[in-house]
Amino acid sequence: MEQYQTLLEYAMQSSLEYISRVGQMSAYPTAKSLSTLNSYDEELPTAGDDPFSVLNFLHTVGAKATTAQIGGRYFGFVNGGLLPVAHAAEWMADTWNQNGALAVMSPVTAKLEELCEKWIVKLFGLPQETAMGLVTGSSNATLCALAAARNSLLQKAGYDMRSEGLRNAPQLRVLMSADAHASVKAALSILGFGENDIETIPTDEYGRIQAGAVPQMDSRTLCIIQAGNVNGGSYDPIDTICDLATQAGAWVHIDGAFGLWAAASKKYHYLTKGLEKADSWSVDAHKTLNAGYDCGIVLCRHRDAFVSALQANGSYIQYGEQRDGMMYTTEMSRRARAIPLWAVLKSLGADGVERLIDTLCERAEYFAERLRDNGFDVINPVFFNQFMVACETDEKTEIVLRTIQNSDVCWCSGSKWKGRNIIRVSVCSHATTREDIDKSVDVFKNALQEVQMK
Ligand SMILES: *Cc1c(COP(=O)(O)O)cnc(C)c1O
Repeated sequence: MEQYQTLLEYAMQSSLEYISRVGQMSAYPTAKSLSTLNSYDEELPTAGDDPFSVLNFLHTVGAKATTAQIGGRYFGFVNGGLLPVAHAAEWMADTWNQNGALAVMSPVTAKLEELCEKWIVKLFGLPQETAMGLVTGSSNATLCALAAARNSLLQKAGYDMRSEGLRNAPQLRVLMSADAHASVKAALSILGFGENDIETIPTDEYGRIQAGAVPQMDSRTLCIIQAGNVNGGSYDPIDTICDLATQAGAWVHIDGAFGLWAAASKKYHYLTKGLEKADSWSVDAHKTLNAGYDCGIVLCRHRDAFVSALQANGSYIQYGEQRDGMMYTTEMSRRARAIPLWAVLKSLGADGVERLIDTLCERAEYFAERLRDNGFDVINPVFFNQFMVACETDEKTEIVLRTIQNSDVCWCSGSKWKGRNIIRVSVCSHATTREDIDKSVDVFKNALQEVQMK
């Protein structure tokens, strides 16, 4: 017990030290910190080390090779920040080491998951009967939702996939945005849809499906659209596509990993107009909501179809009196994700969620405006919390990106957009202030000046 306490105290102290210096920390680890990672290289020790020195090894070497994800100037990918309440609740849940698979394994997790379902459904304005599962992330959320879609569409066509398998299944039609996220393609592939089975719907310069370009759908069609393109943050015309799909009896899935949160803001709700008409949705709490990692959310309005697609005994679903979280996922044993998620929602409230979303978006808007004023080409309107910028030539963009990534001050990732090199900026942490953005803009500005002088 004494050692347990010492270990936890050490973990707490080293964490507090980390938090207090993350503002001065390099946004991406320095070359020196990275090289010390080699000190981890060894064979599995025969005799173990004492736990204290193991933690110490993490603190002295590992912490320095982290990205400053919880700081205010990390703009890479769409990696969310971490709200203190999420962090602290996570610690408590870790202490309890609850298994979220079954209610009988963790009554508190079952209770909080039930509440999270109700709250999330209300927050996004989805149909009341919508079921929620807590999964690792949007990739898994999409997989779960599309499994339900596939089985359900086949069922409607008179084919029972669960007993017959896929071999003699009628052909389904899969429509997907040309700018769909890689995880959507991966989910389709796992579910037995090859590249040649998928029809891609063309998109405009910002990556949005043009409503007129959506092919005629029917009751064997699965249509996957997105709320928030991973590069520029643009939204497909959800309302129109959902109406077309409803008329045709097609299934619409919305990948809204970070962008679905627009639905919870009065100011940005218009971007997701009509989302409640879709059949399933995927979204992450570890992105825009700033809950800790490993907190994906899958939502599906057809509860039975959803649960039956994910369970081995799917045809005989028996709901217990309490909620068994595993029924809504591909997993059994799992983290009690509902605990930190509930804590975040409870502490923010609907107003706090809205404020968080609006602030991220306003910061992104400000960032883009300042970059535009400083000679950068901001490629898209700032729809939500992220945008793309570029210089005159691909070569210059590449050099500027490298300079930013090596600046220690801030970090952005790069990508290709319609054949052009771009720098992606994602404002996804509650910790990002205007000063953080000003400091980062200086880095961009100096990098551009340097490259112009050459
Ligand atoms: C991040 C992201 C995903 C994948 O989500 P994970 O949580 O990383 O599994 C899918 N779609 C979009 C648009 C994303 O931004």
